[in-house]
Amino acid sequence: TVLDVGTWEQIFQELMQQEKPRARWTLKLDKNLDPNCLAEGWKQYELKGFGRFQCSSCQRSWASAQVHILCHMHLESHKSQGQVIMRLFAQRCKKCSWSRFENPEFSPESTMRILKNVVLRILKKFYDFKKFAELPIIREVPLDGSHDTNNCEGCSLGFCLLRLRNNTTEPSVSPFSPTGSSSPTGDVFSQSQVIFIAKWLEEGR
Ligand SMILES: [Zn+2]
Ligand SMILES: [Zn+2]
Repeated sequence: TVLDVGTWEQIFQELMQQEKPRARWTLKLDKNLDPNCLAEGWKQYELKGFGRFQCSSCQRSWASAQVHILCHMHLESHKSQGQVIMRLFAQRCKKCSWSRFENPEFSPESTMRILKNVVLRILKKFYDFKKFAELPIIREVPLDGSHDTNNCEGCSLGFCLLRLRNNTTEPSVSPFSPTGSSSPTGDVFSQSQVIFIAKWLEEGR
């Protein structure tokens, strides 16, 4: 199963609403979002996820735990209205160097991890949540070889440089836990919420 864009938007809103019921956040995917061009008042967040690709020339498929994802995020505090614009970076078949960049596909579980990390980052950036630890990437199949930077759209746009620069100012994991009741992973989502979302996904809404 692969979730379509509309489902990504719905899950994101659902997750956001559980944490901030009064705020209204939307998510849009944009293939042209530029990592080097951030509008004023917006914040940038880069993460990686596990995704799958298929070559449209030779039909070969491959998986990657380094699918680059870029988010631009903005909150209009007076209106309690937030926006996320997200770009999922493509990869190209290494056997067919002439072929085009293919868009990634994500399992429901991988989608959920990515969107939860986006929500966690929003809570930290815009609502001063101190407790913060990103969910790790789960490799759904064993992967061999390192990241194929030559055939990665994100890397060809200088994503690696960007990541290096951001990491110096923005540690992704904070050990500080104000409540003391946190799980070791620092996940802000309660068990019941996770079950809720899992059911919601199963029903195929
Ligand atoms: Zn191919
Ligand atoms: Zn890359």
